[in-house]
Amino acid sequence: MEKHIIEDIEVIFDHGGLRDWSKYTFPAFYGLPVIIRWRQHEFHFNHLGQIRRLYCHARYWPTPQEILKRTITNDWILMSFSEYQTTYSLIKSYYAPLTNYHYSPLFSSYEKPLKQPHIIQALNTFDELIERVREILVIEKISGRVGEFLEKVAVNDRLALTKEAKHIHKILGGRLYVLPPDTIDVEYEVLPLMISDGCSGECTFCKFKKNSGFKVRDKENITSQITALANYFGQEINNYNSIVLGQNDALSAGAEIIEYTALHAYQKFHIENSYHHRSNLFLFGSVQAFLKATELLFSVLESLPFTNIYINIGLESAHQATLEFLGKSQTATEVIAAFEKMQEINKGYNKVNISCNFVLGDELPLGHIEAIEKLINSVKTRTRKGTVFISPLENHSSPGRTRENFFRLQRAATAIPVYLYLVQRL
Ligand code: SF4
Repeated sequence: MEKHIIEDIEVIFDHGGLRDWSKYTFPAFYGLPVIIRWRQHEFHFNHLGQIRRLYCHARYWPTPQEILKRTITNDWILMSFSEYQTTYSLIKSYYAPLTNYHYSPLFSSYEKPLKQPHIIQALNTFDELIERVREILVIEKISGRVGEFLEKVAVNDRLALTKEAKHIHKILGGRLYVLPPDTIDVEYEVLPLMISDGCSGECTFCKFKKNSGFKVRDKENITSQITALANYFGQEINNYNSIVLGQNDALSAGAEIIEYTALHAYQKFHIENSYHHRSNLFLFGSVQAFLKATELLFSVLESLPFTNIYINIGLESAHQATLEFLGKSQTATEVIAAFEKMQEINKGYNKVNISCNFVLGDELPLGHIEAIEKLINSVKTRTRKGTVFISPLENHSSPGRTRENFFRLQRAATAIPVYLYLVQRL
């Protein structure tokens, strides 16, 4: 660890955090940030001088356990710690990631949790820190590693961070409107790559569909994304051990494109030298793509150098009237077949882990909950793989009923894990 005191700020290099993404009831940090302590705040920066996390010990902050995070595409997230025991049983983490773009009344009474006065005050303190660093750089000549780092911090104010996010989206040629739910296991710290755009679904409830249909990116486009991201992140790339392949139905891109991207990215991002233990590849798949997927595809995935490959399938319901109500193209028979195939793949492969989603909502036809209950209760062999994620639709009006239905499904699943799905994006 290397510590510098410059005027009233403290800069700490090489103070490594956790390497394994374990979940704790205290505000642990992961990876290798550069830390600045100033006015009872601890700011964690990446090696590009961009703020990533903020811890606060000042009196205005409700609890020192809450953390403010910023994604690489510039969304602020409040890692909320209230009701942490219930939170863990709901989402497999003691911290609920709250955003302004996706409201979950189960975890917050604020529709825009990031608009709370203490958050605004913390962000203003971040602005003041940037100003203070700029002042220090004018009055003092600071050489070496710390001087170089503070120069980077000084240019990364909130406006510059917005532009950097746009730059990342430009590299990708789009964005990931939703991350696969299994990415909660690495606190959503993933490097995004787009191997396909859109999906062929027309689901009425979906906020993430693009009307332009489904398209696979070519290898040239994928290679240029990988090269540009590796150049952009430089040394910071070591803070990642996970890649997510976008967009909504990356599984439909097929074995060749998935393998090409995964191998190329693994090598170019130096995943084997990551600060974190193990490595992960995440993607979404539609029911149709999953049912069509052959043994060859799963063998290709199993042979990749990543420790774990997570594929999340949007089953949504096992009840025909509900699927029709939702505008899904899959039938209840296909959903049941996909759920059964999920169990087989999870049993038959070591690295490949298939999870799935079902929706919850106040207006869904009667019989929906019972159909999911029956399906998840049919699994009798205990396994830690194959999590069932429950995704409350945005218009669910009763948090109490959603919670009740969620716990009902969790109780029905005697052999498989069931958790809530909170939307996060990049
Ligand atoms: S739910 Fe999935 S398949 Fe349906 S429109 Fe949305 S992204 Fe496409």
